[in-house]
Amino acid sequence: MHDMGVRCIAMRITWLGHAAFLLESGGRRVLIDPFITGNPVSPVKAEDIECDIIVVTHGHADHLGDAIPIAKRTGATIFAIYEIAVYAQEHGAKAEGMNIGGTMEAEGVSISLVPAWHSSSYEGRYLGMPCGAVVKMKDERTVYHAGDTGYFSDMQYIATRYDPKILMLPIGGVYTMDARDAAEAVKLFNAEYVVPMHYRTFPVLAQSAQEFVSLVGDRAKVLVLNPGESIEV
Ligand code: ZN
Repeated sequence: MHDMGVRCIAMRITWLGHAAFLLESGGRRVLIDPFITGNPVSPVKAEDIECDIIVVTHGHADHLGDAIPIAKRTGATIFAIYEIAVYAQEHGAKAEGMNIGGTMEAEGVSISLVPAWHSSSYEGRYLGMPCGAVVKMKDERTVYHAGDTGYFSDMQYIATRYDPKILMLPIGGVYTMDARDAAEAVKLFNAEYVVPMHYRTFPVLAQSAQEFVSLVGDRAKVLVLNPGESIEV
């Protein structure tokens, strides 16, 4: 007999180019690192995006992006490290400040901040430690968005603690892991899906996920999306 009470509602993942994703499930929409305006591969306009929750991994312009104007227009709350939350509040957005190792829940969505090896500032202002984010929507697989980071072996603990089944990993190199390091990171997890990100946006970054796909092999299914493309998992 089919139990109507307990089932996984499919989660729709849309890649908005670079590190920007929209997750949708059960009527809830979580927007991560919405760099839309000025993003040469963005498939949408910032003013057309609707969401309930915004997660920002760090303060660089290509991640904080349009988070504040989108939050102000939609009433969505920004979840980010304390310094970014204060900055967003100063600019009129609703924001919840957190820090690494912490978890908050809102509207059936749980958001945890985890380490990332990177930097974080905006227009000369220090915006706290850079982070990765673990996002769990109600009844769905856990998502780990690594933010911008190099490889670090403590990702092993993120795997143990949160057991994410969907990884969003930067592969572009220069500012983050490249395909080789990202494929090493995949080995630390027991993931079903990996979505490569932070590539193709600018000429300095890797332009293809081909090497990453072949290095990951059958360890996980690599979802190579085009900006604007959605997939249901
Ligand atoms: Zn960055």
